[in-house]
Amino acid sequence: MRYPKLRELKEAITAFIKKPYTSKFPYEPHSPAKRFRGKPEYSNTGCIACTACALVCPARAIEYRDVVTRGKATRKMILHLDECHYCGQCSALCTTRDDNPPGIKHTTEFDLAGFDRAEMVSTTDEKELALCEVCGDVITAKAHLQWVAKKIGVLAFSNPTLFIASLKAMGFSEDISQAARDYMLRSDRIKVLCAKCRRKVTIEKF
Ligand code: SF4
Ligand code: SF4
Repeated sequence: MRYPKLRELKEAITAFIKKPYTSKFPYEPHSPAKRFRGKPEYSNTGCIACTACALVCPARAIEYRDVVTRGKATRKMILHLDECHYCGQCSALCTTRDDNPPGIKHTTEFDLAGFDRAEMVSTTDEKELALCEVCGDVITAKAHLQWVAKKIGVLAFSNPTLFIASLKAMGFSEDISQAARDYMLRSDRIKVLCAKCRRKVTIEKF
């Protein structure tokens, strides 16, 4: 048992000479490591409001608020920092994690204590929602549809919801989809539709 004793002695001498690994925070500022998982923060430009982060959050710290009223259909992502346990699932599984900027990422900010829970949030701006043209249900955020259409390229033309969303993003929109409807067989398919209504017009009416 001599070896462990010598090893402990070596560690004691090294620790005595070297500086401690711990920092003196809060008496001195602390700089966390580069990959430290601190406060998760949304990016307004990177987030497409797809809600994947809310689905994978094990602490259910993320909610999304859809507001659908006459003339307004928006979604806002809200992350409650007081419920978050900084596991990193939201950023690791964010749909746009490989984009620049990604929808959500961890900052190295860690001194997050506060007195007002309502202020302890990270949010996005309100993002416009795409609604089904038949039943009015929420499909997803328009930015999400456009992201998917861009990702799959020409394949988006096999899905009217996706290609109409892309056309609208380019500023063409109503005229083109209306023109397509006027001349096409099964023009009821050339609409922005939720999954249920798409199934109805594609299968049940076939
Ligand atoms: S883009 Fe990322 S951050 Fe935004 S809602 Fe989707 S998963 Fe969450
Ligand atoms: S870091 Fe983990 S707990 Fe916090 S919001 Fe993201 S997924 Fe949820």
